[in-house]
Amino acid sequence: MKIILFGAPGVGKGTQAVVLSNELQIPTIATGNILRAAVKEGTQLGLAAKEIMDSGALVPDDIIIGIIRERVAEEDCKNGFILDGMPRTLAQAKALDEHGIGADVVLSFEMADELIKQRLVGRRTCKECGDTYHVVNNPPKKENTCDKCGAELIQRSDDMPETVENRFKVFNQNMAPMLEYYKTRGILHTIDADHPMQDVTDNVLRVLNSIEQSTAAERN
Ligand code: AMP
Repeated sequence: MKIILFGAPGVGKGTQAVVLSNELQIPTIATGNILRAAVKEGTQLGLAAKEIMDSGALVPDDIIIGIIRERVAEEDCKNGFILDGMPRTLAQAKALDEHGIGADVVLSFEMADELIKQRLVGRRTCKECGDTYHVVNNPPKKENTCDKCGAELIQRSDDMPETVENRFKVFNQNMAPMLEYYKTRGILHTIDADHPMQDVTDNVLRVLNSIEQSTAAERN
């Protein structure tokens, strides 16, 4: 199954992606993580992306489409994949379909903007493994230290309040046409994300199960 996760930055889709990836045994492809890794390594892609990312703007479509096409061609994607953070524009959504890698299901995680902004500004990320925490809602056992690998937790430069505002503006501008695009194709499903993490996961799995059942029924 090919799944797209939609939702404002910080809505919790990254956390759900990890759980779904384990449950369905398909990889998650998070364009933000790929770009951050490139920035850290100082590759040509990283150098081009850093300034754009720090301002909260979007990296050009052709770069993102190139990254995704290369990644989904890898062996571990043959049974499907989860896209987290891509598509971010209608052009990216259309490009996925044009290249035959369009999604079977789009899950849109929804929550009030103000709640998500509080989550983002309090988010701390492990600088080594990328695990995420929240200073109030999900603090690490030891202050500023990753529970998993023991490395230092940092505030991502694009989780700073000014950048968060811009990321929301960019997100809201691009989202409406993409939601319409996938709604018309009949594959858009809305998930209420303002619930404890496990409840959101249960909801997602229920939606995916019912899609699988109706696809199987159509086949027979
Ligand atoms: P994320 O971790 O998904 O919030 O992404 C962090 C930043 O990476 C975004 O604010 C963009 O600058 C860039 N980015 C990630 N995915 C995309 C994409 N699909 N298209 C354009 N820019 C992206």
